[in-house]
Amino acid sequence: MILPIVAYGDAVLKKKAKEIDKDYPKLNELIDNMYETMYGAYGVGLAAPQIGLPIRLFLVDTSPFADDEDLSEAESEQMKTFKKTFINAQILEEEGDEWAFNEGCLSIPEVREDVFRKPKIKIQYQDENFDTHVEEYDGLIARVIQHEYDHIDGILFTDKLSSFKKRLIKGKLTNISKGKIKIDYRMRFPAMSKKR
Ligand SMILES: [Zn+2]
Repeated sequence: MILPIVAYGDAVLKKKAKEIDKDYPKLNELIDNMYETMYGAYGVGLAAPQIGLPIRLFLVDTSPFADDEDLSEAESEQMKTFKKTFINAQILEEEGDEWAFNEGCLSIPEVREDVFRKPKIKIQYQDENFDTHVEEYDGLIARVIQHEYDHIDGILFTDKLSSFKKRLIKGKLTNISKGKIKIDYRMRFPAMSKKR
């Protein structure tokens, strides 16, 4: 089932999300629904706060990036198959010189800005079976993980922009939070959800 994606301005996107355990109700169904929602919106990642749940869960599937001409064949192959569910993730280390990448977010449609992040991460997380893994990533995969990880800490990519850039996009963000935007996937806007 496709779930509505929470738009910029909703308080749930600002919350530090909580850990979950095996007993979280209908977790497998939730994960399936989140994948369906992400694919339906042509996203490469989706975090639980974006469908209104302040829990430490996010998904990544970088296959849409595989066709990027800037990638080497090895990188492209890696993108094609990288699909993973991260539960209770903790980034343990981030290192290297920050690099810029033009990021977007399903909760903030039609806004894209260069965001600076470190290129290498070490992350600990649990998979769907609650087995714990510690893994290292770099490049574009690390980038997508960092973006989604920020969501479970209540941080949006727009929070990381310069105050100048923030001023430039303020009007756009206000419009998104009021639902004054055309999108081709289901969204839930803060102003509307109050009435329900
Ligand atoms: Zn996002």
